[in-house]
Amino acid sequence: MGVNAWLSLGSNQGDRLRNLREAIARLHSEQVQVVRCASVYETEPVGYDTPQPMYLNTVVQVRTSLPPMDLLEYVMAVEQAGGRVRTHYGNPRTIDIDIVLYEGVQMQSERLTIPHPRMYGRAFVLVPLLEVSPDLTLPDGTPIRLLLEQPEVRAQKIWKLPDANLSL
Ligand code: AMP
Repeated sequence: MGVNAWLSLGSNQGDRLRNLREAIARLHSEQVQVVRCASVYETEPVGYDTPQPMYLNTVVQVRTSLPPMDLLEYVMAVEQAGGRVRTHYGNPRTIDIDIVLYEGVQMQSERLTIPHPRMYGRAFVLVPLLEVSPDLTLPDGTPIRLLLEQPEVRAQKIWKLPDANLSL
């Protein structure tokens, strides 16, 4: 039961792998079942003016009974439980969770945009996303695979960690 959604997780502060593991364990509940986890990738920070620590990133596929706005509240509560302190944009993050895609939903509101507006050009989202769901498409039918072929995405550095298993 439930609807598929894909969440991107990232951490670049503290014990990054542990932060990812704890967030995934916290996500998993009666309302949110984590059905698949991608590998963990180490990635260079994208889009900052000042030097930032390297990120660990992953994507999980969930099945959820929560509508999109409730899922947003839920992931923000998981971020807070992980010790995320919201300072200004660009500061290191203990744990950042974004809703990348939510099956059958395309929306734009002040608080929530789906698909996530910054997913299209980010290798750290696209690579793990394709690992869990290779045939996934955008709501307009564009295969996600095509987004990865953009030169500016291919230029981004991202390394798969060989022995970091996130499965619950
Ligand atoms: P961040 O600081 O990067 O975690 O941004 C979180 C903010 O982005 C939240 O306050 C949300 O209201 C907003 N937001 C808009 N669209 C999304 C989305 N698809 N997933 C998560 N947060 C979103």
